[in-house]
Amino acid sequence: MNTTVSGKMFEMAKKVIPGGVNSPVRACRSVGCDPVFIQKAKGSKVYDVDGNEYIDFVCSWGPMIHGHAPKEIVDAVIETAGDSTSFGAPTTKEMALASMVVEAVPSLEKVRFVNSGTEATMSAVRLARGYTGKDVIVKFDGCYHGHADSFLIKAGSGVITLGIPGSPGVPEDIVKNTISIPYNDDEILEQTLRAKADTIACVIVEPVAGNMGCVAPSKTFLQKLRDLTAELGIVLIFDEVITGFRLAYGGAQEYYNIMPDLTCLGKIIGGGLPVGAYGGKAEIMDMIAPDGPVYQAGTLSGNPLAMAAGIANLKLLRQNNFYKELNEKAEFFADGLNRAAESAGIPVTLNRVGSLMTGFFTESPVTDFTSAMKADADRYGVHYRQMLSKGIYLAPSQFEVAFISAAHSQEDLEKGIKMTEWSFKNMA
Ligand code: PMP
Repeated sequence: MNTTVSGKMFEMAKKVIPGGVNSPVRACRSVGCDPVFIQKAKGSKVYDVDGNEYIDFVCSWGPMIHGHAPKEIVDAVIETAGDSTSFGAPTTKEMALASMVVEAVPSLEKVRFVNSGTEATMSAVRLARGYTGKDVIVKFDGCYHGHADSFLIKAGSGVITLGIPGSPGVPEDIVKNTISIPYNDDEILEQTLRAKADTIACVIVEPVAGNMGCVAPSKTFLQKLRDLTAELGIVLIFDEVITGFRLAYGGAQEYYNIMPDLTCLGKIIGGGLPVGAYGGKAEIMDMIAPDGPVYQAGTLSGNPLAMAAGIANLKLLRQNNFYKELNEKAEFFADGLNRAAESAGIPVTLNRVGSLMTGFFTESPVTDFTSAMKADADRYGVHYRQMLSKGIYLAPSQFEVAFISAAHSQEDLEKGIKMTEWSFKNMA
């Protein structure tokens, strides 16, 4: 595979962008190669600047649930752009998308749009603090909630990939207000919340963790979280930036039938344009300015292009059997990966929830950050490079998920499985 042009672009990018990338994992450091530069994408395929074609299992980290450049979304964006790209004023499109989101996500009564997942989580936490008058937040080791100061403590995603435990630049005064405890540990959860209930404003959780690789909640974990926070006057925030509109039209809260107080959304609701949102009970949301004293704002929030893409995206998700078919594709793919590991004799623990999955290079179950860390990230690096060379585009880190989209054909999935078999056998 020739990647000469990507190589040149990367050298040039490094001169003007830190690490050559605008988000750290993209630099591919943990998988031991340079990134390819993407030129364009259509359906399930992405094409790099050297003209190589790949089957895409990153899907822009989730938003491209219908594959790339579906006609409905592209048309909506083009049509909207002709009427100008921003007004910084109310529009019917933001009202329409807000109505769709509120109708879709069971616990939402009101929603506020922002421009990224990070803004959504950061704002939801401020709101929870304003609402409760308390300062401490509880999160879980290996979960990632964006790059705001309060979350960069034992965080997942690129923070694990690069082996950074926290981040310089986050003041000690902020760190002291974040407690990070193990995912899926009901006992530590109960002890922590009961001991510090007077100071804890909120618990924020990925209802299915996606940022230490895919880790499902245990049968009791989310319910325990709901019961305890309700009892102790703590706001429960589901960070559904990955799971929202992905596991079901109503997200993980519909999938598990557990309702948080606040929900953070991102990715899919923008159809690939920069959008996030946070929402929840009206009683809490009414604390936000201008109705209430908790300040949060954004010049480009509710941007017409993003709203148009989001509306078109959600309309496509409402097609009959959309999630059933998506999940069946994912199940077929996961079964194939398991068979490939078995026949090559490579220990792989495959975690899957709906169309999210991670194959961890370890034989032990992966249920939290500590068990995820047992996976052999170097071996993943070898696998990543081998797969890339055969036209399969995976996340450049062991601790991320693979996303299945509606655009993946049977042929794409079979090719993905066949190449996995080849790669695993090569490593055995
Ligand atoms: N929360 C979760 C669960 C995420 O996965 C991410 C990003 N992957 C974020 C928040 C932050 O979103 P963004 O990158 O759009 O700021």
